[in-house]
Amino acid sequence: MRCSGAGSYNRDMNDITMTPVDDMLVEHLNSAVHGAVVRPGDAGYDDVRVAYNALHDRRPALIVRAAGVADVITTVNAARSNNVPLAVRGGGHSIAGFSTCDRGIVLDLGTMRSIRVDPSRRTARAEPGCTWGDLNHATHAFGLATTGGIVSTTGIAGLTLGGGMGFLARRCGLTCDNLVSADVVTADGTFVTCAESREPDLFWALRGGGGNFGVVTSFEYRLHPVADILGGPTFYPLDGDVVRGYLKMMADAPEALGAVLGFVLGPPAPFVPERWHGRPMIAILTCWSGPADDDGQIRAHLNVVGPVTGQYLERMPYPAINTLFDQDLPPGLRHYWKGVYTRTLTDEAIGVHLDYGATLPSPQTATLVFPIDGACHRVAPEQTAFGPRDVAFAAGFGGSWADPTDDDANIAWTRAYDAALRPLSAEGGYVNFMAPDDADMVRVNYGRNHDRLAGIKHRYDPGNLFRLNHNIAPQIVTVERSSTGP
Ligand SMILES: Cc1cc2nc3c(=O)[nH]c(=O)nc-3n(C[C@H](O)[C@H](O)[C@H](O)COP(=O)(O)OP(=O)(O)OC[C@H]3O[C@@H](n4cnc5c(N)ncnc54)[C@H](O)[C@@H]3O)c2cc1C
Repeated sequence: MRCSGAGSYNRDMNDITMTPVDDMLVEHLNSAVHGAVVRPGDAGYDDVRVAYNALHDRRPALIVRAAGVADVITTVNAARSNNVPLAVRGGGHSIAGFSTCDRGIVLDLGTMRSIRVDPSRRTARAEPGCTWGDLNHATHAFGLATTGGIVSTTGIAGLTLGGGMGFLARRCGLTCDNLVSADVVTADGTFVTCAESREPDLFWALRGGGGNFGVVTSFEYRLHPVADILGGPTFYPLDGDVVRGYLKMMADAPEALGAVLGFVLGPPAPFVPERWHGRPMIAILTCWSGPADDDGQIRAHLNVVGPVTGQYLERMPYPAINTLFDQDLPPGLRHYWKGVYTRTLTDEAIGVHLDYGATLPSPQTATLVFPIDGACHRVAPEQTAFGPRDVAFAAGFGGSWADPTDDDANIAWTRAYDAALRPLSAEGGYVNFMAPDDADMVRVNYGRNHDRLAGIKHRYDPGNLFRLNHNIAPQIVTVERSSTGP
């Protein structure tokens, strides 16, 4: 059921009937893990307990800062056998606040950050505490990259497991499409390596099914030749014709053009005229990873979209484009987002975006519309758990604000936006943009892949230890066999 009051944005952790952490468990973990075990009252507790999204200000009973796979196995076993709530944290950017909890254990993987790039195979293996800034930096040294998030401080772990969209998605596919293999600690503490050819069901489920199936301790990615790109934001007035111009540009654009459409407030940047500062605008965040010889054509296309009111568009190393917006979204802001998928933006849907674009409730709030066609469409809906392969755009929208007294206004604005847009959109929305009270969206988000996911969940996590996520309930799924089949 959806919560209606603006204040009821949180899944109530008290509904998790589990055992509190006791001293014996703390002693056991203290002696059994190599990483730090941090408790309330310890120096640094407040620094390590806080999640990126300040809306979820929780007080875990202890935080295990894993030093490696052995610590992950020990912590998973301890949480399961003591029936204690377990939150798993990669980069900590969960919009829904799933990587923290009250009274339970936070398994913090932020200390596991090694990366090994294999330039001859064009792959990279990265530990789950890495951010996109870490991975982009490591692979750029070899002129390689894979699709990742557009803010460098976002974690690779949660983003990959939910699907993963970014500037390279049209050219290289979603992040999960570039996952080659993964090491996973499952709910019974078993260490499993999965790939297309090994534990294929688990590997399938990890590519979009979120953190439901175990703790991933290593991600192996396919890389692509991407070195310097033409990138940056172009600003236009808030006008439906600009959106239509964007859609026209994208319909004909080569897949190397990753251009994200934004409804934003004009930033106080030197390349935006002062009269536009703080006023509702449209932005196109461009990343052209095609030949530099074609930069002029890309600039020309952006000029045709609408009257340009401000622009910062330069050749830059690929990692740089993913840091341009970091300063606008520092840790400690409050976030409540939702998401929809669309095949195209109809005039009616454009009208909704313009209405809400004109009433953005806080300077950090923005709507971002990610194109997910091109290479994303060359993966069949049943090939990965991330199923929506016939939609062209994934929109993420919602409040991002600083002052707790603005909670109600931002949450109410987001819910009203969602209510207006959802009937004009395709089914479901990107799980990584969903709010914590979107639990009733899980089934529809996974569509026809849901039941297979529920069966795999039952196989790898029958007790639902990994439940702090957009949770797929374990379910015994009967596979129908044809009577004439083998
Ligand atoms: C500023 C910002 C920018 C964003 N930009 C993009 C973007 O460009 N593209 C995009 O696709 N999404 C984007 N997102 C959404 C992003 O994909 C999600 O917030 C994602 O969950 C972040 O991953 P994380 O590891 O940082 O989060 P965490 O909070 O650490 O984890 C998120 C979820 O994954 C689980 N999890 C984390 N690590 C593991 C692991 N190793 N094994 C199993 N489960 C694990 C957690 O338990 C939790 O349920 C953005 C979010 C923010 C806040």
